Amino acid sequence: MCEYKPLSTIALSHYLTIELTPMQDTFGRTVDYLRISVTEACNFRCIYCAPNGHSTPSGSPLSVEDIQRVVRAAVALGITKIRLTGGEPLLRRDIVKIVRAISSIDGVQDLALTTNAFLLGRLARELADAGLRRVNISLDTLQRDRFTHIVGVDAFDAVWAGIREAEAVGFAPLKINVVAMRGINDDEFTNFARLTLDHPWHVRFIELMPVGSTNVAQEFFDQHFISAAELIARLPELAKSDSPQGSGPARTYRLPEAQATIGFITPASEHFCNACNRLRVTAQGAICACLFGDRGEDMRGALCEGISEIKLQELLARAIDSKPEQHPFGDGFKITSVDAMSKIGG
Ligand code: SAM
Ligand code: SF4
Repeated sequence: MCEYKPLSTIALSHYLTIELTPMQDTFGRTVDYLRISVTEACNFRCIYCAPNGHSTPSGSPLSVEDIQRVVRAAVALGITKIRLTGGEPLLRRDIVKIVRAISSIDGVQDLALTTNAFLLGRLARELADAGLRRVNISLDTLQRDRFTHIVGVDAFDAVWAGIREAEAVGFAPLKINVVAMRGINDDEFTNFARLTLDHPWHVRFIELMPVGSTNVAQEFFDQHFISAAELIARLPELAKSDSPQGSGPARTYRLPEAQATIGFITPASEHFCNACNRLRVTAQGAICACLFGDRGEDMRGALCEGISEIKLQELLARAIDSKPEQHPFGDGFKITSVDAMSKIGG
């Protein structure tokens, strides 16, 4: 049953001539990457992601069929890389079906998933069989008690088991995402870097981003932000390196003799908007042209109405056209339009 109003008043004529592969935005950037949030729900409450806790989802997420239609339309526009995210994507009971539905589409060259790994130990094999090839796993500390403090759940062992299983089923390159936070986990920087000596796990440090509009959220950012440059300076042995597949904006280094790389993603200290190649779709079906922008066009109503594939392509094309040149900096650099990163998909 459709819960959303149809997009009846959209002027689509401007997009009747769609340039097929690859599509560029108005600043000449090729957009070939779609991140789809498959749920707003999450079983963790990470201190940096949902500072006010997770609010109740505003409706049911897009169905498998609708996700498949969106991906088909995106592929027709030249998008070849798809990432499933959330909330926690493995909470979707039909996540294996979603993966199968997307991996079966001709033109999808890279299908990846970002997860907290709590359920990965159980699901990795089925996901691999369904066509998933790689995962990014969030892990902000190697200390059990600290883990519980950061994510709000005593789940370190389950997550570690998930990482081991991901490696066992052959997901590669396997990446560990660490949100760097001064005074919370920056003392573990060297230990995380050393993981790459013993395991083929690419470790990537993500600069903290300010999420939410409250003073508490801003204070958290002001107190705990640490730049990638400061971290890099702490480990003089790091040497510049080529990046593993799908590294996007990461700056990549390597320790001597390491099995994997160490990357830094710097949305705050050094934006990578000039290389931004992505669109996002929220769990409710809104298209987002920029992580820091307002929610865009709602596809949900159109999907309920049985929108044709060409019109779906037009909606996506319009979103690509509306990508801003860059996100605002200084005081304006803040994700205020959502109260949790889990709502937009990180
Ligand atoms: N639940 C999954 C997970 O945690 O991997 C996927 C969704 S989560 C929103 C996607 C990514 O966003 C995670 O790597 C998480 O660490 C990152 N993230 C969330 N809030 C952030 C913040 N305030 N600053 C930087 N990264 C953040
Ligand atoms: Fe959940 Fe991921 Fe956000 Fe943590 S970062 S609260 S695991 S969505």
